[in-house]
Amino acid sequence: MNELLKAYPQLSSDTLAFLSRKHGHFINGRHEHGGLGEPIDIHDPATGLRIAQCSAGGAAEIDAAVKAARAAFEGPWSKFTAAQRSVVLWKIADLIQANFQQLCELEILDNGLPTPLAQYVCGMVVPEFFRYYAGWPTKIEGSTLPAAPQGKLPGEAISFTLREPIGVVGAITPWNSPLPMVMLKLAPALATGCTLVLKPAELTPLTAMRLAEICQEAGVPDGVVNIVNGYGATAGAALAAHPDVDKIAFTGSTEVGRSIVRAAAGNLKKVTLELGGKSPVVVFPDADLEQVIPGAARACFFLQGQNCMAGTRLFLHEKIHDAVVDGIAAIARSMKLGPGLDPTSDFGPLISAKQRERVEGFVEAGRKEGAEVVCGGKSPTRPGYFFEPTVLTRTTPEMTPVKNEIFGPVLCVHRFGDDHLDQVAREANSTIYGLSGSVWTRDLGIAMQMVRKIDSGQVSVNMHAALDPAMPFGGNKQSGWGREFGKEGLEPYLKTKGISMTW
Ligand code: NAP
Ligand code: MG
Repeated sequence: MNELLKAYPQLSSDTLAFLSRKHGHFINGRHEHGGLGEPIDIHDPATGLRIAQCSAGGAAEIDAAVKAARAAFEGPWSKFTAAQRSVVLWKIADLIQANFQQLCELEILDNGLPTPLAQYVCGMVVPEFFRYYAGWPTKIEGSTLPAAPQGKLPGEAISFTLREPIGVVGAITPWNSPLPMVMLKLAPALATGCTLVLKPAELTPLTAMRLAEICQEAGVPDGVVNIVNGYGATAGAALAAHPDVDKIAFTGSTEVGRSIVRAAAGNLKKVTLELGGKSPVVVFPDADLEQVIPGAARACFFLQGQNCMAGTRLFLHEKIHDAVVDGIAAIARSMKLGPGLDPTSDFGPLISAKQRERVEGFVEAGRKEGAEVVCGGKSPTRPGYFFEPTVLTRTTPEMTPVKNEIFGPVLCVHRFGDDHLDQVAREANSTIYGLSGSVWTRDLGIAMQMVRKIDSGQVSVNMHAALDPAMPFGGNKQSGWGREFGKEGLEPYLKTKGISMTW
């Protein structure tokens, strides 16, 4: 802790007190500490310092959490009216804002993101998302149907549907944006009346643990929100396979997503998956380059490229290719790398040494396969897991860094000519993923045609990855199953019962 204070003398006493606590799990409204073997060390990726430890739970902790979630689902939580659930969701948003400073500091220390982004996330994105879902509980409605069950005449029967919470939800989240990832599962679960067992990424459990306490303060009954920390292969796998979990909401890699589906087959639990991406950014020659250059740089380098929606394949018309590449490279070179807690940094570290090695490997492979490294491509010599924002040109669809999700700050640039839009779209669609994408042009005809042709769950025009609580988000192809955000984001947490009644 002394070393941490030396690196960051500005840390608040709330944050220091939280870090020095013994972290375990949050089950049935209580902190528990059981688990398998050694605790997990949690590091600050900007310095490599150990900032906290938490227990590594296994099947026994998952089972205890699922039992608590089932009891709360059938017990106290089922007695909450829709309006009472709204009040609780709104209160959670208020408490997130009341704990703004601490949540920002914990999120930055855990994940490495720059301060302005952490402030935007903890002060705006997360509370606004809870408030959006606070509006829903009182609007979840079934329908009355003009049915004639078993030949009954009108007036002899009535048919209608009930929307019911799906039950106990198992949520498994990644490290790249820890608090928003938990928010995406928790808010719709609470809005619909479900209960939750969460297994956060073992690299970034801190803000999830704090959020569970905030839920309790907001009046969420014990057992509704449970957290089991631990590794994916043990705690995560036990949750995905648990016979009394009704649904898994997973965000992570496509590879682990497949193992979730296999594990869920035992009791045929419902599954939603938010998986990897390799999203295209397509720029036509009439686009406003003053918007395109910073927009495309941000699309790729946001969160150091550790972002599922990242626009990592940039398709540039040959007329503007050099101007855009030069502009993005200038931005990349000017970015100040540094710890997120230094408010002057605009580019943080990668999450771990392992992730940095992985990114380096992809850049090396690209270099060997003939790509040109226009800028970046190296780790600076300093503590922490930093890697420079990198631009590769002369890339082709077969190259290793083009085909694979790198999850780091590496932009692959392709050039196109006056090709038919179908050809441009075919190349934009030439990966197994289909999460996000953007088109940059002032020609609305081209924009609308490309919007239809790009096979992604989200396409933005003259912006990239435009998120809003009201806008459904999710993957086509191997980027996932189902949607989060918006009204559609409630659906996977609900089931429909059809009722016919005569007298
Ligand atoms: P990951 O390795 O797939 O891990 C995600 C979560 O799954 C972690 O909590 C992990 O535990 C757990 N896990 C690992 N193996 C498991 C298993 N066999 N059974 C159950 N759970 C298991 O992904 P990541 O490296 O943390 O995150 C990066 C990936 O997330 C990228 O592919 C990115 O595109 C994707 N992502 C997608 C979205 C989206 O909305 N589509 C958003 C953000 C990120 P550990 O703690 O042990 O790793
Ligand atoms: Mg992982």
